[in-house]
Amino acid sequence: MTYQVLYIFGYIEPFLLSECIEKEKKGMNGSLIDNLKKMMDYGMLGVYRRKQLIDEHSDIKTVPALIKACSIGAWLNRMYRLFDKDGNGILPQIESELFHMFEHPVAEMIDRLPEPYRTQATSGVTYYGTDELIDDGDNDIIITEDGYRVLEINAIAAAKDKAEQMNEYDEYNIYQNMNENNYVDKRQFIISGDNDYISVQDLIVDADKRRFKENYPELFQLVYKRNERTDLYRCYHCGMILKERKVGDFSCVSKECNRYLDKKIKMDTTAGWIMRDVVVQSIRYPGQLELKIKDVLEKAIEKGTVKSYDIWPGKWEGTNDTWDFRVYMSDGSILLLDAKNVTNLYWIINDKREYMDGAKFWYVVPDSKEKRYVDIINENIAYDGIAGCLKVRELKKMLGVK
Ligand SMILES: [Zn+2]
Repeated sequence: MTYQVLYIFGYIEPFLLSECIEKEKKGMNGSLIDNLKKMMDYGMLGVYRRKQLIDEHSDIKTVPALIKACSIGAWLNRMYRLFDKDGNGILPQIESELFHMFEHPVAEMIDRLPEPYRTQATSGVTYYGTDELIDDGDNDIIITEDGYRVLEINAIAAAKDKAEQMNEYDEYNIYQNMNENNYVDKRQFIISGDNDYISVQDLIVDADKRRFKENYPELFQLVYKRNERTDLYRCYHCGMILKERKVGDFSCVSKECNRYLDKKIKMDTTAGWIMRDVVVQSIRYPGQLELKIKDVLEKAIEKGTVKSYDIWPGKWEGTNDTWDFRVYMSDGSILLLDAKNVTNLYWIINDKREYMDGAKFWYVVPDSKEKRYVDIINENIAYDGIAGCLKVRELKKMLGVK
């Protein structure tokens, strides 16, 4: 299990920790809750960075964000006397404890806090009640959708604290960069099937790939890294590039695909750039479902049931991505659609979503989901009557598309 690897890599020398606590003391302002949130943000950023380092087989052992998170935890334990009956700190002080905390519902950690901090944390920590913020299913540490959203929401606050290296913020920087301008153009490029690998040759013969690199040089650097792998394969089932965890051990980001692994497709690999795992995980992979929905909407326009649609529109002028699609129906009504391909239906049931007066909101899930999955969501969804869940094939039917 990767967790053990992380532990070996990631312990913090005790002397370093006490130094960090001293540093923390000087810079520490704000309430327990503010600092608790900061600890969790840094913790999640650090998990990301740790995973990147493992994927890149890097020799770097120190992840500043994890040290920062642990030193905040240790400092808060002392400052607020947060110890359990055996005298152990309640908040994580070393990396393995931090991972342990994230592997459980955050509520469990909060429940262990003494009063009045428990009450404060319950009302003050917005991700109270979320399930695990990281998921190490399939030996792979990933940030869950909720964890990712927490990071996104807190990105700006965290970035103000310039104590950390910028590495941890690459993921934010991608979103920040996309948000600066041409969001749709940038995102569409990333999700379109054949841009997860760009060869030097492509930049000569393929005008679209060249345009992306020339128009968005910073984003290009954030999204891609130089390819150093010699054996690259595409997934037979979905077309994404397979990850290679150990030599010869391939898998697809999409867990559904792993039964087709023996049919993997060998790629020609001349010198070039490969999409970073974090981008594949957070943009390219969910993009598959978005593209399917887009295809349905295009057909619905031909059919005449849909007049037009926006992709990733923001609720307010100058913002992006409040919803995946805003669909203007020919009968004058408006539908909002959000593509969701998540294993745990909790993320859909408890999704806090912006709605639009008079518009019906649909979570659209892959056809491969069980009927029961959709039924449970529809029975439990928080915004009864406004929001609902359906599969792509039901969306087709609703829009009169074959
Ligand atoms: Zn696949």
